Formats: sequence, structure tokens, C-alpha cells
Amino acid sequence: MDLGIAGRWAVVCGASKGLGHACALALAREGVHLVMAARTRADLDASAAHIRAQTGVQVIAVPADVTTESGRARALGAAPQIDILVTNAGGPPPGDFRGLARADWLAALEANMLTPIEMIRHAVGPMIERGFGRIVNITSSAAKAPVDILCLSNGARAGLSGFAGGAARQIARHNVTLNNLLPGKFDTGRLRSNNAARARRSGLPLQEEIALQTRAIPAGRYGDPDEFGAACAFLCSAHAGYITGQNILIDGGAYPGLF
Ligand code: NAP
Repeated sequence: MDLGIAGRWAVVCGASKGLGHACALALAREGVHLVMAARTRADLDASAAHIRAQTGVQVIAVPADVTTESGRARALGAAPQIDILVTNAGGPPPGDFRGLARADWLAALEANMLTPIEMIRHAVGPMIERGFGRIVNITSSAAKAPVDILCLSNGARAGLSGFAGGAARQIARHNVTLNNLLPGKFDTGRLRSNNAARARRSGLPLQEEIALQTRAIPAGRYGDPDEFGAACAFLCSAHAGYITGQNILIDGGAYPGLF
């Protein structure tokens, strides 16, 4: 299927690795030019070079911490125009809520709720003027099914879903859509380092720890980041103009509810 977005420009955050990288690559495979943002220049340059070589699209790599105002401004300012915005940053650390201080909450809200809201606020005006825009927030299944030790993520992501649900309906008539993609467990660097930490805590061999987790997923495996990227690219496509304000889980069936 031709997604109908070749020649458009996307800003993809957290794009050097994992799910952000997969979204950037899937868009580039559709002929979308990219601004890729992440903090570590060497990883970002390598990832941008890989995507350029694979797809031939224009790629502007912007080393930036998108949780800062200046980082966001540099990422958003680098694209000739923004047709597509994929927001993403690292997830907050785990922890029992009794051990978390107000500063921990403020940092999580800043990274995983206020940062995407700020980026959307700046990008959306020109999208409305041009009559085309696609915004995807990479969030977490924790927004739908809270995880006990991820209270910072549960709270910040649910807040972002609430914001997005309201904002999406204010901009829908301009062919600007706003959706949240909620990953379950995907095989990325973040998941691998979380698993190593879990195995150290539980004392289980790493492979046993992984087997325990994948048994709880009806698909019987972790997600492949490319599967996530493909879903993101479809949501950004010309064909997806009637999908907005949604929280779309991609979790191999792990969430047990019907809706
Ligand atoms: P990852 O493999 O660690 O990749 C994170 C990417 O974001 C890297 O490119 C990283 O590069 C960049 N990044 C992190 N903080 C940033 C910041 N402040 N500014 C700009 N770039 C930043 O992580 P992932 O697994 O793809 O996870 C992506 C998001 O999905 C996270 O919010 C995570 O919590 C969420 N999630 C993931 C899973 C999963 O199974 N993988 C499940 C649920 C939710 P630098 O470090 O160089 O900046």
C-alpha cells in the first residue's frame, strides 16, 4: 500500500534507537524526509546515516534533549516544514510511590507529558494552515493498564492521553490527527537493560526472566520495533485521516480487556 506521504517532512524524537528509530525508518521507507532528534550525537549520526543509506530520503540529525525548551526549539526549527510529528523521550524510572519525591514527579511529568504537549502546541498551527498534519505520541501500555512499580509512567502517560483526547477533537476538522501509540513489551535497548536489572533483583538467570515475561504475552514473544514503526507510519499516512484521539495498544494481546 502506498501511504501517500512521500515528500512530506517528519520530526521524530528519540529517533536514534528503539521505537523512535523504528518509526523514523518506517516513515523514511515511505519517502518521508526526516528531522531526527536524540541526545547522544554519535548514536544519532550513525542512525541517521543508516536511514539515509537505506532509503535515500533527506535526514537532518539534531542532537537535542527534547525535555528542554532549547532542545525542542532546535528539533522543531530544523525542518523546512512539519507535516508529521512523533513525540518520544526516555521513560521514567521505576519505583514504589512511597519512595518518590515531588522532584521525581515533576521530572516525569516534564518528560512524558509536558514535553509532547509543548511540541504539539508549536507544531499544530502550520499543520492546520496547510490542512494536513499527523501527530503520534509514543507512550506506554501503562496508560491503559497501570503497572505497580511504574507509577511515574502510569500518571504522566495517562495525563498525556487525557490532553490528547481533548486536543485531537479541536483540530480534527483541519485534517490534523493526534493519536497515542501504547507499546507493550518491545525488544529495544531499554527493555533489555530493564530485564537485566530485573534478573539481578530476582536472582533468576536472564533467560528465565525473559521466558517468564514472554509466557504472559499471548503472542508468546516480545514485539519487533519494526512492527511498531509500521503502525506509526500507517497512522501518519494519507489514509488515516479519520483515526484521531485514540490510544492504540500494540502489545501482542497482553491487555486482557475487549476495549
Ligand atoms: P530506547 O531503546 O532506550 O530508545 C530511546 C531513544 O530516545 C534513544 O534514541 C534515546 O537517545 C532517545 N532519548 C531518550 N531521552 C531523550 C531525550 N530527553 N531527548 C531526546 N531523545 C531522548 O527506548 P524505547 O524502548 O524505544 O522506548 C521509547 C519510549 O517507549 C520510552 O518512553 C519508553 O518508556 C516507552 N516504552 C517502551 C517499551 C518497550 O518495551 N520498549 C514499553 C513501554 C513503553 P539518547 O539517550 O541518546 O537521547
